[in-house]
Amino acid sequence: MNIQQMETFRTAVPLSKPFKTALRTVYVAEAVVVKITCDNGLIGWGEAPPTHVITGDSLDSVEYAIQQILKPNLINENLLNYEPLLQKLHKSLVRNSSAKAAVDMAIYDCLAQHSKLPLFQYLGGAKAELETDFTVSVNSPKEMGEDALHYLERGFRVLKVKVGKDDMASDIARIREIRSRVGDAVEIRLDANQGWTAKEAIRGIRKMEDLGLNIELVEQPVIAHDLDGLKQVTDSVETPIMADESVFTPEQALQVFQTRSADLINIKLMKSGGIFQAEKINSIAEAYGVECMVGSMIETRLGITAAAHFAASKSNITRFDFDAPLMLAADIITGGILYNGRKISFPNANGLGITDVDVKGGVNVE
Ligand code: MG
Repeated sequence: MNIQQMETFRTAVPLSKPFKTALRTVYVAEAVVVKITCDNGLIGWGEAPPTHVITGDSLDSVEYAIQQILKPNLINENLLNYEPLLQKLHKSLVRNSSAKAAVDMAIYDCLAQHSKLPLFQYLGGAKAELETDFTVSVNSPKEMGEDALHYLERGFRVLKVKVGKDDMASDIARIREIRSRVGDAVEIRLDANQGWTAKEAIRGIRKMEDLGLNIELVEQPVIAHDLDGLKQVTDSVETPIMADESVFTPEQALQVFQTRSADLINIKLMKSGGIFQAEKINSIAEAYGVECMVGSMIETRLGITAAAHFAASKSNITRFDFDAPLMLAADIITGGILYNGRKISFPNANGLGITDVDVKGGVNVE
């Protein structure tokens, strides 16, 4: 089963409400879609959004990496020998994790189809259903309280609240407002997206603990490269701390676990460069007794279908942050994962189960 063709297309799908974090505001979900065609007729799909502030990738850089570097290296190669093939993919250029992820997921899509299994079963098949959280964008406390209540009414039981954009007093006011609106039955996790210093984080999280705000976990309190700061926060508070932007690679994960700099880890295919490396990060985490969440960038149901298949395949992955497609004003994917409120299930289909991508189905596509 050789790779015969590797095509790329640009898509752009508007969001129903802007997605706001400490790092950025997103109005349109842009992406490069990858289509791999094999000589036996199987087709695999992949997606890479340009998340400049996290991965450094742009639409142009993703397209260039795939068309000029990955494609010439992988074309006519046999997918069934996927170990050396994916080693080659990762060695052919450094970083560019989103471009690698898009090609990697298309390769796994073909492999699972060839094995006549849904991808989550091809990779391990730990679960057949997942529950996603829903993200509350960072805004005024009043607006966030209203949004939280709205998501609760839509059936979500875990809220991921974005903080870290301005000052800690405002963040605490936001969380108090949300907690007072949604009550105690809802799980609240925070994501500061690198927005605090270690000292701010320690003071603020301790205050939240004293106020009884019952925070499940805090994601990436400090800037990505500050592992000392991350460890300081983890050592100083009761609330579990999760590393996100600090960990792209298995080597970085190992460093975080060896130094006990975080209690939990958020794996994203767009950071790891796809499933091949994400599996390694999860295995290392499991060996250290660390549970993983799988999350995503602002991606369509294509990228999230791949992430959800991976997440469902492993027992050590216990938290799921797959709300991005629910934020989009249009769905350009045919097939793929199914949403029923907070529940995600998999169609009875091989591979990703995606049969078509309407790349011009969004807006602003050139
Ligand atoms: Mg995060």
